[in-house]
Amino acid sequence: MAVVAGCFVLGWTVAQLPPVKRIDNYAYDLLTARTQPLWTPHSVVVAIDEKTFRERGGTPKIREIESDALERIARADPLLVATDVILADPVEPVQDARLEMALRSLRKVILPSDLAAEQGGSAKWEDPLPRFQAAAASQPGHVELMEDRLDGVTRQIPLERIVPDGRRWSLLLQTLSVARNQPIVETPDEVEIGALSIPAQRSVRIPGRPMYIRYLPQGRIPVIPVLDIERRWTDIRGRVVFLGVTALSAARDRVVTPSGESISGVEALAQSYETLLRGEFLTDARLGTVVLVCIGLAAAAGTAFRLFSGWAAYMLGAAIMAFAVYLPALFFRSQVVLPAFAPAAVAWLCTAGAASYQHFFERRQLKRAEAERSRYQQAIHWAAHEMRTPLTAIQGSSEIMARYNLPDAKRAQLTDMINSESKRLARIIQTFLDVERLADGQMELKREPFSVGEIVDACLKRVTALAERKKIGILLNNEVIGELIGDRELMEYAIYNLLTNAVKYSPAGTNIQVISELKDGELRLSVKDQGMGMDAKELKNIFKKFYRTKRAEASGEVGTGIGLSIVEQIVAQHGGRIDVTSEPATGSCFTLVLEAHGAGSANHSNALSRAGDG
Ligand code: ADP
Repeated sequence: MAVVAGCFVLGWTVAQLPPVKRIDNYAYDLLTARTQPLWTPHSVVVAIDEKTFRERGGTPKIREIESDALERIARADPLLVATDVILADPVEPVQDARLEMALRSLRKVILPSDLAAEQGGSAKWEDPLPRFQAAAASQPGHVELMEDRLDGVTRQIPLERIVPDGRRWSLLLQTLSVARNQPIVETPDEVEIGALSIPAQRSVRIPGRPMYIRYLPQGRIPVIPVLDIERRWTDIRGRVVFLGVTALSAARDRVVTPSGESISGVEALAQSYETLLRGEFLTDARLGTVVLVCIGLAAAAGTAFRLFSGWAAYMLGAAIMAFAVYLPALFFRSQVVLPAFAPAAVAWLCTAGAASYQHFFERRQLKRAEAERSRYQQAIHWAAHEMRTPLTAIQGSSEIMARYNLPDAKRAQLTDMINSESKRLARIIQTFLDVERLADGQMELKREPFSVGEIVDACLKRVTALAERKKIGILLNNEVIGELIGDRELMEYAIYNLLTNAVKYSPAGTNIQVISELKDGELRLSVKDQGMGMDAKELKNIFKKFYRTKRAEASGEVGTGIGLSIVEQIVAQHGGRIDVTSEPATGSCFTLVLEAHGAGSANHSNALSRAGDG
């Protein structure tokens, strides 16, 4: 879950980086390039092209060229003329008068307003001169397009432009409004002209109410050079005409389309106009939708790897990734532009994340299961090993009793032995089960007070035979006093284990000391031997399960290497610790440090120190 969430956040964050927008743009261009709509354009472009421009004297004569073009168009009788030629400055009275006449001779004309940056930096509208505007059928419209800052491609047109100086609708809207003789009506989400409503949200993030231009293939919208108007007047009659300069040497505005073609600004206006007429508007997917899609993909990837594993999960992951790549195409079919990168990045990262997590998680699970199994096997091994001694004793005694006619005293001794050994057997089994449960965290420790002295005595009794056999002496330094709270059986097991280890790993003729100290509520119980000892490296490992030193192995003493790990667990469960000091060939000292129970402990301490002084 956390892994998938992390990958989601990473993918989403990367998708917000500006350069990534290029990838989204590229995907958009691919998608739009594939559509070839059946659509007959309703508008034409009349172009002041390179040839017209040069033949008529170029830039100095621009107003004359414009007047000439308008006069010719008027003779062809179009429905209306919209021009993006800026008419904000007077040129020369005679020429301006001619232009005014030409404008008046048209049925309907729409003029542009230019956004000019003032010196202060704030933009100002430059409307047509009043004498020209007086001939226009509507307010002037702006002729701005939206060029992508990253790749310079024009994909959208702003339907409105608002600057402190005021607002202008696009020339496009003014044209349609005049052509249909219906006003421009706006709502926060749409701009409406008659029955046509254009989804163009007013938003702070992207100002200008942009509309995607759905470019028709080049050549579909007729482009008629001014000089050809007479020959092609049928193309113009009754149509909407966009008049503009297309001559490369004069046109300020070249527009790059998503398919990489370079067209003039007036052609882009005509393309936008056709988009309006077609009414197939693309809208950007809402942020919420994009987030939801990405969350869905992340969840799908996570679920796939949670429910399945192996090749099934990988196949599903691959399907999710492929689906994420295909999604923009799916949305595009319903005229929605979905950013391509974010879903793909999220799907890919989440799938990869979930896959690697599963891979490592499964490996870890496997390792843990293996460790568990081997721990259990070793525990069984230990139990079997520990049980052998009492079993042999019971078996031997019972056989002797069955086979021989024994004197009553001997018989009673053997019966006692069988009794005590079978009790020991039961204890071993109990310890085994307890330790298993302790390791599993299933068991709650018994919490009863018991005297440490008593269990030390019991342990010493049990270990004496073993020690005598090896000619090892066990010395109790002082009387062990103090009470502990916890599990008596387990604590006895722990102390007994330390004692048997001391016997096992010491050579004959040495001594073992049991030293106890009760001070400030803390009981320290040490078992000190003069045995083989351990070096620092070995010391680090002795509490690990199944670890045995080379020395111990070489000594021929049997062992499983599990005892001390159990002792450590038991002591830890009692809130205590074990300190060990040891030196090879000199001896070891294992000290249990435990919290003593009861208010009397301070007195015990005094008693002990007095005993020590004496
Ligand atoms: P076991 O005695 O069954 O091998 P333990 O867990 O009790 O297992 O002890 C782990 C190892 O620690 C022993 O194998 C031995 O190498 C070392 N060890 C424990 N006690 C002593 C000791 N008193 N002196 C030297 N080595 C010891």
